[in-house]
Amino acid sequence: MTEEDAAAALIQAAQGLFEAGVMSASGHANLSARVEREQMLITAQGGVRGLQSSQLALVNLDGKVIRGSLEPTMREIVDMHTLIYRQRDSVGAVIHTHSPGLLAFAMANRDLPCRYEALLRFGQAEPVPVVTWAPRGSHRSVEGIAEALGRSAGTMAVLLGNHGVLVFGPDPAGARALLVVLEEAARGELAAAELGGSVEFPDGALEEVRRSMARARQ
Ligand SMILES: [Zn+2]
Repeated sequence: MTEEDAAAALIQAAQGLFEAGVMSASGHANLSARVEREQMLITAQGGVRGLQSSQLALVNLDGKVIRGSLEPTMREIVDMHTLIYRQRDSVGAVIHTHSPGLLAFAMANRDLPCRYEALLRFGQAEPVPVVTWAPRGSHRSVEGIAEALGRSAGTMAVLLGNHGVLVFGPDPAGARALLVVLEEAARGELAAAELGGSVEFPDGALEEVRRSMARARQ
C-alpha cells in the first residue's frame, strides 16, 4: 500500500468504527496500516474522531518516526503495532479500541469464544485469546502479545487484559470489518448469558472451516 492509499483507508476505517457504533464513549483508538514492507502509517494521538491525514505519522518497524510526530503516550503503543507486522507478514493493518462488549471480556480476563457464525466468514475460527495485563508498551506486555500469537496461530485478534482489544487484517477495511463482528460476538455472548449461555458449534464445524480457510490461502 502507498502512504496516500494507507491514509485514505485509515480515515475511512476510523469513521466506519464510529458509524458501526463499536467505539467506546471516549472515542479512543489507534489504527495503523503497513506502507511498503517495513513501515507503517499510524494515528499520532489517542482520539480518532474526525481523523485527518495530518494526524498520522510514518514510522518504521523498528519504531523510528520517519515523518510527523507522535504524542508522548503514543510511543508506548507503537511497539504493540510493529510487533504484529513483524510477526505476521500477511497483516496490512492493526486496530486497537476499547469497544464495550470486547472490553467486558478483557476486563474479566476471559477469552472470547468462537460461537458466532459471522466470525467464521471473517476468518476467526478460534477463540480470541486474552493477554494478561502488563504496563502499556512494557517489554512484558509486548512479550505477552507475541506469546498469544504464537499459541493461537490462526487468531486475527487478541484481547488485552483489563484494557481493550487489538485486531488485525489484510488492510484497514478488513481489520475494521473483523472488529465489528468481534464486537457483535462479544455483545451476543453477554446477552446469551441471560438465557443460560451461548452454545458451541456442532462437533467438527470449526475444524472444517479452518481446513477450507487453509485451502483458500494456498
Ligand atoms: Zn487502549
